[in-house]
Amino acid sequence: MKLTDRLQQWGAPHPFFTFEFFPPRTDQGFENLLSRIARLAPLGPLAITITWGAGGSTKDRSLDLAGFSQVEHGIDTVLHLTCTNMVQGTVDDALRSAKERGIQNVLALRGDPPRGSEYWIPTDPRFVHASDLVAYIRSHPEFGSHFCIGVAAYPDGHTDSKSSELDFQHLRTKVEAGADFIVTQLFYDVDNFLDWQKKVRAMGITIPIIPGVAPIQSYASFARMSKLCGTRVPPAVNDDQKVKDYGVELAIETCRRLTTEGGLGGVHFCTLNLEKGVRRVLEGLGWSHQSVQVVNKIIQESPSDTDN
Ligand code: FAD
Repeated sequence: MKLTDRLQQWGAPHPFFTFEFFPPRTDQGFENLLSRIARLAPLGPLAITITWGAGGSTKDRSLDLAGFSQVEHGIDTVLHLTCTNMVQGTVDDALRSAKERGIQNVLALRGDPPRGSEYWIPTDPRFVHASDLVAYIRSHPEFGSHFCIGVAAYPDGHTDSKSSELDFQHLRTKVEAGADFIVTQLFYDVDNFLDWQKKVRAMGITIPIIPGVAPIQSYASFARMSKLCGTRVPPAVNDDQKVKDYGVELAIETCRRLTTEGGLGGVHFCTLNLEKGVRRVLEGLGWSHQSVQVVNKIIQESPSDTDN
């Protein structure tokens, strides 16, 4: 089902949540992730999203993983798709493969530079910005009405951004090109997000916004991700000792504020392919109580959370 339809039909007495996973590079990692998704599925995510490796490096695994969550678990799945190293034919192939797997949702992105490249350079002049990909899919006779299209947005600003005003304009371009929903980059500064959201709404953008939340799993991964994403870090986070537990508390508080003060219907969890942090956050929020208890038992009997 299309994500926008699912959002309208969400009937649970608590906010919705989605899980993001990335395709592991090794066969063993891939198998481990399939088991992890199987354990997390009973928690009842609204959708699962599967990333597209920089430069299409994980193309087959992304499609297989997306097909697995869509077909095996019947969970509406969003395939991320980027312009990096893509030409019209490879975009069509990816969309067709997704459609054949029953996938009806795509997150249309420009993409990160491929590994080893500092700057992003288009391969096909038709796909220079994410808005080009959105417009292409939307106007395609085979895919235009089949796919519900999401786009990315950056409450803390995009790393290449020249000004926040331009960022807002570019977001508007993506929406006008035909986007149906927005998923944001992860952030930790909720006040800043709430201001950003007000500005987006004031521009007349009315499509659903799903905020990205990443429970901090370790100080090292937190520092790496924040640098990569250009995310602002409030001073209180810089405590090496307490960072893991604090990360769960912070994510719980963030989700609560977003869904109360922010009036948002739910959140998108960047899981980094780990399950315990997200499980603890959902437990703390009481967003999926019964199923969390069942899954807790399974997780206690399962391998550690580090073997991606
Ligand atoms: P765009 O919207 O094209 O923006 C890129 C930059 O260009 C911005 O600075 C923007 O302001 C500027 N810009 C946009 N339009 C114009 C224009 N018309 N003229 C001039 N400048 C313009 N990357 C991956 O490789 N794989 C993934 O699976 C993936 N998943 C992601 C999921 C989420 C939720 C988010 C937030 C990001 C994800 N990314 C992923 C990262 C993303 O690809 C990068 O942040 C990339 O640098 C920008 O992608 P975009 O779609 O926002 O690009």
